Amino acid sequence: MIYLDHAATTPIPAAVADEMCAVLRTQFGNPSAQYPMGLEMKRRVESWRSVVAGALGCRPGELYFTSCGTEGDAWAIHAGCWQNRRVGKHIVTTAVEHSAVLESCRWMAQEGWEVTYVAPDPGTGRISAEAVLDAVRPDTALVSCMLVNNELGCVYPIAEIARGLSAKNPKTLLHTDAVQGFLKVPFTPKSLGADFITISAHKIGGPKGIGALYIGPRVRNPRPLLPGGGQEGGLRSGTEATAQIAGFAKAVELRQSFIKEHPDHMAQIRDYAREKLSQLPDVQLIGQGDAPHILSLSMVGWPSQNMVNDLGSQGICISAGSACHKGKPSHVVAALKLPKKVAGSVIRLSFGPETTTADIDACADALRRHHDTRMPML
Ligand code: PLP
Repeated sequence: MIYLDHAATTPIPAAVADEMCAVLRTQFGNPSAQYPMGLEMKRRVESWRSVVAGALGCRPGELYFTSCGTEGDAWAIHAGCWQNRRVGKHIVTTAVEHSAVLESCRWMAQEGWEVTYVAPDPGTGRISAEAVLDAVRPDTALVSCMLVNNELGCVYPIAEIARGLSAKNPKTLLHTDAVQGFLKVPFTPKSLGADFITISAHKIGGPKGIGALYIGPRVRNPRPLLPGGGQEGGLRSGTEATAQIAGFAKAVELRQSFIKEHPDHMAQIRDYAREKLSQLPDVQLIGQGDAPHILSLSMVGWPSQNMVNDLGSQGICISAGSACHKGKPSHVVAALKLPKKVAGSVIRLSFGPETTTADIDACADALRRHHDTRMPML
């Protein structure tokens, strides 16, 4: 199998699986229990929290484990709006966010909030800080803008947005979904100036079912996500997913020990793929992605889903954006306002530390065969 869908999820290194198995098999104590096994688990959860917080660049007390990136996004949006409900009932986000953000904003809209969706630059997918700041009003409670777009690989100017916000409307809180950026593009909460940062383990070699939300000091008394037994500083109750947290920390440690080498390798693979695939007939590169691990392209006229299916049947895993709903381009591709034939043919390749140039060569051969043997759309 050739796996070129690392933005969807990543393989789990043996060391991560081993760490998780050890916790599942022998260290099953509840961190809230008051006997030695429980106290030991509590100590271990806090040491795993320190590992993840250290990689993110925040204090352990500012990092809350969640069940996934989706949960972190939803929590940040609700908590940000809650804190600033007296500032106003306006949210600024972008048209190219992950559905986790867009659907949470839609919920807020159903509660009477107004949401402004900043459109990307057609063609490139870029979003300027100016475009986001222009949408900010005196009643804007929250801005939510992702760090790295999961379909295009565009890196958005969060630090510049934060600086602009503190000049224009200092009360407005800033959330960034950094699920695709964590340990791939360098940042810390301080360098970004964001109040909320979402991350997720399964995009960096960790298990599914665990993520984290950074909540910064400007968020006073954050609104709890789940009331209950008081875990996660009383903000997100529920017995800690100890094995997942252990796996998350181990994956972070592994990626961190190659913090320069892995992104450099992915960027080399992306550049190789760009070069190689753009030589194929009818191929057009989509968006100006700067993230090392994502490349989006269109083989204009050849429907995305047919390519995904055909390559999939040969053991090559690629995707049609994050979600090609029943043959329709994703909302991200739609926001680029590309001609129908281009938009209907977009595929995404995404890379990990394990990806080789031979993988790209095999993918290029398969795409060429597809082009030469399958019918394009009308
Ligand atoms: N945000 C972005 C940018 C993503 O790419 C994803 C996953 O694809 C998510 C959020 C959701 O993360 P999770 O799958 O952990 O819920």
